Amino acid sequence: MELFKRKTSLFIKSCRLLPACLLVCCLIGGVIACAELRLAEPLLAEPGSVHAEPALAELPAGTTAEATAEPIAEVVAEAAVMTKVLSVSSSGGQKTASLLDGKTATKLSLPAASVLDISAPSGQVMAGLYLIWDRPPGPWILSWDGESGEDEEIRGNYGYLHEYVPLREGISSLNIRLTEGIGLLCDVYVFGPGLLPEWVQIWQPSYEEADLLLLPTHADDEHLFFGGTMPYYAGELGLRVQVAYLTNHWGEAYRTHELLNGLWTVGIEYYPVIGPYPDYPSRSLEHARSLYDTKEMVDYQIGLLRRFRPLVVIGHDIGGEYGHGVHMLNTDTLRLALEASSDPEAAPASAVLYGLWDVPKTYLHLYPENHVQMDWDRPLARFGGATAFEMAQEGFACHVSQQKWYSVRKTGVHDCRSFGLYRSYRGPDLNGGDFMEGLVPYSAERFSYEALVLPRFDLKRYGLAGIGNYFSLGSLREKAFWAYKAI
Ligand SMILES: [Zn+2]
Repeated sequence: MELFKRKTSLFIKSCRLLPACLLVCCLIGGVIACAELRLAEPLLAEPGSVHAEPALAELPAGTTAEATAEPIAEVVAEAAVMTKVLSVSSSGGQKTASLLDGKTATKLSLPAASVLDISAPSGQVMAGLYLIWDRPPGPWILSWDGESGEDEEIRGNYGYLHEYVPLREGISSLNIRLTEGIGLLCDVYVFGPGLLPEWVQIWQPSYEEADLLLLPTHADDEHLFFGGTMPYYAGELGLRVQVAYLTNHWGEAYRTHELLNGLWTVGIEYYPVIGPYPDYPSRSLEHARSLYDTKEMVDYQIGLLRRFRPLVVIGHDIGGEYGHGVHMLNTDTLRLALEASSDPEAAPASAVLYGLWDVPKTYLHLYPENHVQMDWDRPLARFGGATAFEMAQEGFACHVSQQKWYSVRKTGVHDCRSFGLYRSYRGPDLNGGDFMEGLVPYSAERFSYEALVLPRFDLKRYGLAGIGNYFSLGSLREKAFWAYKAI
């Protein structure tokens, strides 16, 4: 009888769980269907893109029809870099050799409205153009001889310092015309058809909505103190990780190139925000406060929170890690911004522009409460088995100018695995070790099957609380949406 009661009770409990189970099954089923649909889609072949598949006629000499049965990656030739054989001339008559030396330290100043002509060697076509600027150039016009006269397109709208432009088929010459002010151009690369080398950065505009918003103070803090966050969440899981630096390094232009190279290395493809504040040394919060307009800085950060509507924000240690005053200030102003971003009276200009937002979860580096220890030692498929920690080291290695001062570490105030949940709608994490615990990413459609199903909907790991969080976040988003609409 006792056994029967237990079995009945188990059955009743199972019945109660049934709707939730059905929901999970539907979600998983839907995901599998989406994953299969995605797999069935053909790869888009854009000229010069990393996914480009060459027509048979473009295959390297000596490639036989049988060879095409091999995986396509083995027969796609790397695009030829034409830099050495290009002809580049400037309408101002300046010497252009510095544009072809591959060194960001040498640059050419192009006056407003000046034109740069670039031609491929005779009989060759250009598939892609890659420009390295010293400063964001403002809009510039790319033009070429098309079928019906001169065609042109406007570029430079997103302020990319490193900009790749895929070119229309068959172009053998083009020109670049600046529309605003003086442009400082470091390097020009032109590629023939084929697979682009990995070092070519093809940036996308910053996200409109971010799963994670990282707020480093300087170029290199994102690797040193946030460790494997970018390679794991952006690179491996494909989540929307937006990086927004507080300061800029326009006074030391090489650092912004290092910044972009480092982000690209760890799997960030959406352009970072580079803050309006100059980089100053500082050893205390009081001193740092004297360097900047802190009220304006809080409003600026409120604007970032509203613009990106992040599910998770990750900031510096309150103590500034090794005691950098501006790291401390960055988090000090962030703490105020987090409380004000849902208040329409605070920073009203960004409220009108973006709507209101209250960040669901905020983690601070080294924060002692609700401690979260991240495991950056798992091998990541996206990076050929390298771990998130190793990728943070690789990202930091791009900051050539900073190597003698710092390193990515697992110890003391440099421990890039140690965080605490500083602020949350939902109390502490149930399991820990995952910034996205209990949250459903904006970018769910970009998830791989494993990444979406296992961490997010595994009942063993999250229990029914995970499902509850899913719905409570859904209502939160709805609230935020209507708050936005009401303005
Ligand atoms: Zn720093």
